Amino acid sequence: MGDLDVVLLGTGSPLPDPNRAGPSSLVRAEGLIILVDAGRGVVMRLAGAGVIPPFINAILLTHLHSDHICDLNDVITTHWVMSPVTTPLTVYGPPGTQQVIDGLLDMLAPDISYRIAHHADLDSGPDVRVVEVVPGESFLVGSATVLVGATNHAPVEPTVGYRISAHGVDVVMGGDGVPCVGLDALVAGADAYVQTVIREDLVKLVPRQRFQDILDYHSTVPDAVATAGRGGVRHLILTHYVPAPPLGQYDEWRALASEFPGEVHLGDDLTVIEISRAGS
Ligand SMILES: [Zn+2]
Ligand SMILES: [Zn+2]
Repeated sequence: MGDLDVVLLGTGSPLPDPNRAGPSSLVRAEGLIILVDAGRGVVMRLAGAGVIPPFINAILLTHLHSDHICDLNDVITTHWVMSPVTTPLTVYGPPGTQQVIDGLLDMLAPDISYRIAHHADLDSGPDVRVVEVVPGESFLVGSATVLVGATNHAPVEPTVGYRISAHGVDVVMGGDGVPCVGLDALVAGADAYVQTVIREDLVKLVPRQRFQDILDYHSTVPDAVATAGRGGVRHLILTHYVPAPPLGQYDEWRALASEFPGEVHLGDDLTVIEISRAGS
């Protein structure tokens, strides 16, 4: 284990893939477990990483696109039913997050009533606490300080990125989006930068306008390399591959990032990237 680890729980995208869960990542350090986004299959991948939802200190949402939140309800339910006593689950996200959580809890209302009726030791539903955040704010999660930054995923708004500082390591979760000054400010001087990426060259080959539309609001691999270079980070971590390569076959993606002077990390679901603090 590094001073801080990033676990790529789900490296997929909205495109159904039998081998890749939807977008979600774990930031893990001694005494700290932060879940960033909660895409398709997140609870299965958490189990693969040895984490059950009650172990999570907080959930951070970068934005409210369905691929990043579609299994958040499963995290909420599993956190609730596996906790010995009902404990709060804090979800940080951009404005709109409260509306999404309220809707999820509405959807879960029948299930919540069944379980409360069935279990004598359960007398209340999930205690989900939402904190809506905007760029410039910061907050504490256990031993970590988290800074919120602006990202550009227009026309999807609002969207945010997070800089998580813990155990002497700073890691930026860029979420979806194209390069922008807000992201540059968040990345500057960090140790690691996690960016969702697409392959512009391959997406352009698909003659479907709805698919081509994704080109204008996602970073390409060279975009991510450029942002990482401006920020001077040591580790560039790429995820959310569109279109996803076959498992284990990252040479073409890696070649597109060959100009990055630091370490480039790509991988299948459950890849662990260990980050040590600078100079150690
Ligand atoms: Zn998105
Ligand atoms: Zn996405």
